[in-house]
Amino acid sequence: MDDEILRDLAARARYFESLSSLGAPRIAPVGGEIAVAAPRAAGPSSAPMAAAPTAVVPRPAPAYPNLEAIREWIGDCQRCQLAGTRKNIVFGQGNPNAQLMFVGEAPGADEDEQGLAFVGRAGQLLTDIIEKGMKLRREDVFIANILKCRPPGNRNPEPDEILQCHPFLEKQIETIHPKVLVGLGKFSCQWLLKTMEPITKLRGRMGTFNGIQVMPTYHPAYLLRNPSAKKDVWEDMKVVLTLLQG
Ligand code: URA
Repeated sequence: MDDEILRDLAARARYFESLSSLGAPRIAPVGGEIAVAAPRAAGPSSAPMAAAPTAVVPRPAPAYPNLEAIREWIGDCQRCQLAGTRKNIVFGQGNPNAQLMFVGEAPGADEDEQGLAFVGRAGQLLTDIIEKGMKLRREDVFIANILKCRPPGNRNPEPDEILQCHPFLEKQIETIHPKVLVGLGKFSCQWLLKTMEPITKLRGRMGTFNGIQVMPTYHPAYLLRNPSAKKDVWEDMKVVLTLLQG
């Protein structure tokens, strides 16, 4: 096995370990009450995850009084390889006191260009979901991503990139402290719910992230390719609206 494969396996192992070490996921059965699920294994049983070569060392968690301080902490980030190809860091934007926060995957080309989250086609659909569907104003919610920099060619985030970047999102969530988090797509939902279950299983099943209610749903980019799934997302957003009113 060459070095690159070993490095990739090690990063995946660290990522899976970080998911499972953050605590037992709380995920509701479809249509049911929230139940505490059994702690999950550190990775797919077929993968050699048990032999994680390096343990995850938790980062020090300094107190960040506001979003500006978190943005300063990120700085001109060079912590992962995406620094070499990004144009702009996409911090996320919206109301710093939002009751509702959306978490996507990573910036695309438009977002990289403008330095703003969800401003391309998927972003327009997300805006429609928020404004036409939920009758909320986009500026009243907060929208951020797991990764702050665009993966080249919009490829999936690498585990190591998520490991480097997620402390910023975690602090953003802690600082904003919304009433409800909506995970958009596989990577966001898996990270928020600390599980490797596929998005098709997670969608619509409420969970929690650090005590905050999480609604996992499909990514708007998926809806652009599969418009028939919009009705599922609408069902999820109706639950979110009920939670916001409660
Ligand atoms: N997709 C995402 O996950 N985030 C964005 O900001 C844009 C597209």
